[in-house]
Amino acid sequence: MKKETQKINLKGLWLEDYEKIMEDLGEKRFRARQLASWIYSKKATDISQMSDLSRDLRDRLNQIAYIETIKPVKSQISQKDYSEKFLFELSDKEKIESVLMWEGKRVTACISTQVGCPLGCTFCATGKMGFKRNLTTGEITDQAFALSTLPISNLVVMGMGEPLMNYENTLQALRIINNEVGLSLTAGKITVSTAGIPKMIDQLAEENLKVSLAVSLNAPTNEKRNQLMPVNKKYPLEGLLKSAKNFAKKKKKRVTFEYVLMKDVNDSEKDALALSKLVTGIPCKINLIPYNPVPDLPYDRPAEEKIAAFRDYLYPRCPSVTLRRSKGEDIFAACGQLQTQS
Ligand code: SAH
Ligand code: SF4
Repeated sequence: MKKETQKINLKGLWLEDYEKIMEDLGEKRFRARQLASWIYSKKATDISQMSDLSRDLRDRLNQIAYIETIKPVKSQISQKDYSEKFLFELSDKEKIESVLMWEGKRVTACISTQVGCPLGCTFCATGKMGFKRNLTTGEITDQAFALSTLPISNLVVMGMGEPLMNYENTLQALRIINNEVGLSLTAGKITVSTAGIPKMIDQLAEENLKVSLAVSLNAPTNEKRNQLMPVNKKYPLEGLLKSAKNFAKKKKKRVTFEYVLMKDVNDSEKDALALSKLVTGIPCKINLIPYNPVPDLPYDRPAEEKIAAFRDYLYPRCPSVTLRRSKGEDIFAACGQLQTQS
């Protein structure tokens, strides 16, 4: 028997790949649909479960293929807001986290796209752990599946990692999640959050999958942003905002700008004014996120009055400003607190 590593992982493939597999086995192409349905609708974990394929075909498929599934190893529920953080182990023993959040009737799943992150933002726990590897399409899809024991209403790609630096796998996963064979989740309910890779934002704007875009701005000037997000040195604000505007225009959809408020770093009136000027002319919403403290990192959350003052200063100048209360802070599941050790 072939070792698992030489076999094809069926999770993460799509119809054209399944057609090729079936053809190579001398089978009819239409069986590809059966495979997709077993993997993504019925969430089969083993080829032997595929009861509408003949035993002989299952045996032959078993010789060349297998189904990889991420392994839940731990889950923690916040006593404050019932958000739940899941720790998964991958086949190479690396670990990732995903979060399920409740807000009224809305259930939002937050998934990861990389083990660690290569962009090293100075305020972020994931950035601090460095970069291990990209997640496969199957590993990204599996998180959404694992979190969907109840139907999810929204999916945010805001967990560990930079989705636009694992573009192909992330997009393929989102297509599967969007498809009726997967979770049937409307693209409009899916948000991809990026630290800002302009050329990939441009590419996303050309896709036929109409997902929402969130750009983590976090600072109103290049000078400040360079300090917080080293990626800004390579892709400064001018080009990033141009791509964000292009996305909004192409998709006829407002872009969300995320702005993590950090005490004495980016929370002054001057910052708010600069921010409002920066986004003028771009169809957008601004989402203010009070900083979630990370052990050993030298940042703090501003006082409540300061947060409110920033919002109030920004609001009349920008048409849509929301203040996001992070979920799951007590279990280190909030924005930017995801971090695993292998
Ligand atoms: N890499 C992508 C998506 C993952 S980070 C990105 O940067 O957008 C998701 C969000 O968490 C980003 O908006 C980021 O600015 C924010 N974030 C990171 N660390 C944080 C922290 N400690 N407190 C609050 N938000 C944080
Ligand atoms: Fe990576 Fe996003 Fe964290 Fe920056 S904020 S280090 S891009 S995960």
